[in-house]
Amino acid sequence: MKLSALLPATAMALILSACAPEEAPAPEPTPTATPEATPTPDVSETPTATASDDVLSFMIGDLEATALLDGGFTMPVSESPFAAEQTAEEISAALEDAGVESATLSLALHPLLVKTPDGVILFDSGTGGPPAGALMSSLDDAGIDPADVTDILISHSHFDHVGGLATSGGELIFPNATIRMSAPEWEFMQANEQQAILVGAITPKVETFEPDAEIIPGVVTAVEVAGHTPGHSAFRLGAGDDTLLYIGDSMHHYVISVQHPGWKIAFDTDEPTARASREALLAELAESGEPIYAFHFPFPGIGHIEMADDGFVYVED
Ligand SMILES: [Zn+2]
Repeated sequence: MKLSALLPATAMALILSACAPEEAPAPEPTPTATPEATPTPDVSETPTATASDDVLSFMIGDLEATALLDGGFTMPVSESPFAAEQTAEEISAALEDAGVESATLSLALHPLLVKTPDGVILFDSGTGGPPAGALMSSLDDAGIDPADVTDILISHSHFDHVGGLATSGGELIFPNATIRMSAPEWEFMQANEQQAILVGAITPKVETFEPDAEIIPGVVTAVEVAGHTPGHSAFRLGAGDDTLLYIGDSMHHYVISVQHPGWKIAFDTDEPTARASREALLAELAESGEPIYAFHFPFPGIGHIEMADDGFVYVED
């Protein structure tokens, strides 16, 4: 489905039309991907997982991880908040250059789940309802009960990342989970009157961390990626050579945000800082080859960043 009308960018995440996951564009597999940098999909080690297109289990070292589809957004290039200062022609040309569908932009939404010996960690919660909201059925497909989740790590407080924490009436979806977000992000969220019911619901469960703090020793460390929101955080999972970076909304679209990181994203609260952060992170990731988990890239959003002719490119693993 396409948007029937252009709406203010700040409201867009709430009301964008959902698209079927099958409609999300998928980059071609790239033979240059290095095996060392590739997380090993290993569904066989997850006996509770069922065959589902919305669920993919894989390993990060000895951590068992599962990508969980919540849904997706699609929009005409003329209404894109992800290249807010570019014309539709410029955006389409960039997509054509990348060899992908050029009339629309699609973003997937897929929270990540990680099992540790001590608990079950969910990274972001999806929208909790239209235009996405399939997280509950994806969890069910993966054999996870919401009551099993012990920790929810929030990258930032935009609706597509926190909307699934509670019902519209303020009932917690994950009753036993501690909800962890950075201290500046929690301050930002509490000041948002539009999220008053949600803030009220989660307040007893929230524990904050300082930017760049080690949150769960040996398992998760926060990585500040400043600018998208006041306390936006990525998360580094795993240890030693077996790490993966959950990038949150450091990047949104797998072509536009990676190949044109300087283009303005209307959702960035501090746009110059977000742009600088995005460019620095891309350079770091291209240098390290560290695998990433990209919440908004085509499902499951597991890949890495490489140098290209005059910039960067996302390579799906
Ligand atoms: Zn988002």
